Amino acid sequence: MTDLARWLKAHADDLIASATNELATSDSVKAQVAVAVEAFYTSLTYASATDNMNAIFTLLHHWVEGFGISTADTVGGLVPVLSILKQSTNHMLKILCKPSDGFAYLLVLDDMFTQAIVYASRLEEEMLMEEMKGRLAASEQRIEGLNKSKNDFIAIAAHELKTPLTVIGGYASILRNHKLIAEHTDVEACMTGIESGLNRLLTLVDDIIDVSLIEAGKIEISLQVTWLSHILNRVERQINHSLSQRDISFSVDYDSIPEEPIFADPERMVQVIHNVVMNAIKYTPDRGQVTINGRDLPGFVDIMVADTGIGIDSADLTHIFDPFSMVNEVALHSSGKVKFKGGGAGLGLPIARGIVEAHGGSIWAESPGYDEVTCPGSTFHIMIPMRDVPPDQEM
Ligand code: ADP
Repeated sequence: MTDLARWLKAHADDLIASATNELATSDSVKAQVAVAVEAFYTSLTYASATDNMNAIFTLLHHWVEGFGISTADTVGGLVPVLSILKQSTNHMLKILCKPSDGFAYLLVLDDMFTQAIVYASRLEEEMLMEEMKGRLAASEQRIEGLNKSKNDFIAIAAHELKTPLTVIGGYASILRNHKLIAEHTDVEACMTGIESGLNRLLTLVDDIIDVSLIEAGKIEISLQVTWLSHILNRVERQINHSLSQRDISFSVDYDSIPEEPIFADPERMVQVIHNVVMNAIKYTPDRGQVTINGRDLPGFVDIMVADTGIGIDSADLTHIFDPFSMVNEVALHSSGKVKFKGGGAGLGLPIARGIVEAHGGSIWAESPGYDEVTCPGSTFHIMIPMRDVPPDQEM
């Protein structure tokens, strides 16, 4: 063992106490810092005894990987930590060592600390590079995902726009042919076809406008006293026609719906529940069930729309509320909106979320998973704040 190693060992307690005081400002982290400082002086003693810096380098590796000495309450970064350790050691040399020995120790220690600081700064640089690389890869992946979503959206929107246009075009050309009208054509049916095509186009354009308002944070809601049972009644009337095209039982448990009025935008709330219920119908095979229940939670009412449909993969449960993020392949989008897994531009849930959040509420989905054979089903929760005073209009 060298004289320096012996000196370090003999004064370990004083060295640790002094360095810990310099490094940790609050009592809550002192114990943790003291353990790290003790490990440092043990490595320093070993390095000076063996004339080999490896013990210190290994410790620095350990620290840089996050088990380190720098916490929110201590000095950040390895290099400043080492500088403080060096300063504290030099100070203790001055106090505790004879000047004749002290000078020799100082020279050796200076060299060791320099090596440690050079090594630490290299480690930190490497670490930073790795972190930057990771962040870059994550943003590249995100951009790639967004690009795919936008491309999918354009493909679906084009498909969604084209379907009703083709229908309208077909009926219009039949109507133009007067001879056929006279003999075979049911004018009423043609007009209904044109109207339904136009309605579908209008809905899509409205949805695109809503999503862009939500994305820009400009959606306006007009909060007023309203009753959930009235809203659910209106949704029931709206979806009657769609239900008649499918073999699905639909029920609302009005007894579970809170009777007190809420402050909400009734038109927008109808839109939210309509979107969620239409999805429940769309993603549930025939002979399935869709039910709506309510429950009182502290400060909120939770409207639960449950179905016995194909369910949702856990990886998609949050993702389905993001605009332009399609869970389904573009190719799977069929034309009938009410058909099982029928068409849709993937805007219904992002709009629902935008409206619910503008009310100060939240919306989420739960499902045991996605399985078209066993149909585990999904439940959508729409939570709206229960207020008994009008909310601040600025909201
Ligand atoms: P879309 O027009 O595709 O229905 P939405 O925004 O309404 O768009 O829904 C986004 C995606 O969430 C759907 O494509 C579907 O994959 C999934 N989804 C929504 N509701 C349900 C549900 N009740 N059951 C299963 N999947 C659902």
